[in-house]
Amino acid sequence: MKGLVFDIKRFAVHDGPGIRTTIFLKGCPLNCWWCHNPESQDVKSEMDVKQILLDGYSYEKSEEIGKLITVNEVMEMVEKDAVFFEESGGGVTLSGGEPLMQKDFAIEILRACKAKGFHTSLDTCGYVNSEVIKNAALFTDLFLYDLKHPDPIEHFKFTNAKLDLILKNLQILLGMNKQVVIRIPVIPGINDQAEQFQKFIEIIKSIDGVQEVHFLPYHALANGKYSRLLKENKLAGLKTLDKKELFPAKKLFEENGFTVKIGG
Ligand code: SF4
Repeated sequence: MKGLVFDIKRFAVHDGPGIRTTIFLKGCPLNCWWCHNPESQDVKSEMDVKQILLDGYSYEKSEEIGKLITVNEVMEMVEKDAVFFEESGGGVTLSGGEPLMQKDFAIEILRACKAKGFHTSLDTCGYVNSEVIKNAALFTDLFLYDLKHPDPIEHFKFTNAKLDLILKNLQILLGMNKQVVIRIPVIPGINDQAEQFQKFIEIIKSIDGVQEVHFLPYHALANGKYSRLLKENKLAGLKTLDKKELFPAKKLFEENGFTVKIGG
């Protein structure tokens, strides 16, 4: 079975416990205004053309984003790092995009990893068919689960997706006793107000079983990618959010019993 992969990152330390190999699958059903991987959104390969300056001359360097590879090829790469997984308590993370957009490929990788005894994490936006996420959960140890906005109308405006399916799937996973870390991308002017953090807490507490929350502060590093891919950047000009600005929100979540990390 083949799937479209746009990156494989070895020795990752922010995508779950220990040292990990993170596989980035192409395709996403959302269209978040702040997306830091705009090259991940389409389920087709595309070209990224960079201008390189060398000895005073400007060159174009083209790179294909997204390559079709088989599950066996993924596993050959992953297995090279088995010793690091064992030493560090790490494993394999599927990310994207939304990995479950290529559901059969993603679940087959998870299944193959579990057959090898590797810890598996799935970084998901949760906006997928509930049967699909249940099947993925059979081979997933940890979900890194995005919550992007606590208000359903604003959520739709900024992501083009309905919040209710995401909350329903979260409830399903917790009902299956899966380990879930909530990840909140914090975007200035969009979801960074005290009352919005309070609302996030109410939502998370209403679905029993989450202990850990990660804040992902907005960064502007993807700006260049938007212009090269000729995609509209709705947040062009927005500055990277300083971690320190999230200390009050961190305290608020901690007072409500959550373990909080700033960063992935
Ligand atoms: S869910 Fe993630 S990959 Fe998809 S559009 Fe939003 S930020 Fe980008």
